[in-house]
Amino acid sequence: MRKPLVVGNWKMYKTITEAVNYVDQIKGALPTPEKVEVEIAVPTLFLQSLVERTATSPLKIAAENCFYHDEGAFTGETSPVALRQLGVKHVILGHSERRRLFYETDEVVNQKVHAALNAGICPILCVDETMKRGQSHGQVAWMVSQVIAGLKGVNEDEMARVTIAYEPSWAIGSGKVAATPSEANEGCYLIRQTIAALYNDQIANRIRVLYGGSVNETNLVDLMARSDIDGVLIGRASLDPTNFLKLVSIV
Ligand code: PGA
Repeated sequence: MRKPLVVGNWKMYKTITEAVNYVDQIKGALPTPEKVEVEIAVPTLFLQSLVERTATSPLKIAAENCFYHDEGAFTGETSPVALRQLGVKHVILGHSERRRLFYETDEVVNQKVHAALNAGICPILCVDETMKRGQSHGQVAWMVSQVIAGLKGVNEDEMARVTIAYEPSWAIGSGKVAATPSEANEGCYLIRQTIAALYNDQIANRIRVLYGGSVNETNLVDLMARSDIDGVLIGRASLDPTNFLKLVSIV
């Protein structure tokens, strides 16, 4: 039985004041982590103060990115070791916005996955599809290739700390054009099949696969009812605290 994981992804929204008010509003109102794990991925600048504010709450704070070296002359980057020292558990890696806008290749994403695991952080590896399956040949192969490349060299023990997020970029950010629950489930199923082929059935059955892309209160019940969707990565609909709490209560 895989425990659901809900991750809000704030991206580069919110001021520190808004961030603190948001966290204070929801941190006492969440279900116990035995039922569902709830995290918010926030800009690096906010990590320390929000981790401190949530120390005794079921709400956990995740990072939106990190670099693939622990230290060095890398102006502007964030070390996975520094994240670990702050008490961050999860880091989102390979989000389609980073792949597209910051030219992160599969190789870079794979290096980041290793750096995070070595530092004791759990990666949420995002894989993309730019067009609906069926509209363009090769989308499945491309998505699967991101899973294979992103996990290159990751051993079976380390897989216990990996989460994959199926995030078709055609469904992200619009608030309207979400994948249908069956399309989302099929994407997550394909990822699980890939993990089974790369590792084994036990690891494939254990790993959590999230769906992300215009998740909202209308589609969430149906998404969570699907066999291969173990949780969601929520962007726009996580920005309002009341709405985020409502979504968590649906899961
Ligand atoms: P969205 O974003 O929910 O606004 O589509 C999801 C994401 O980018 O993780």
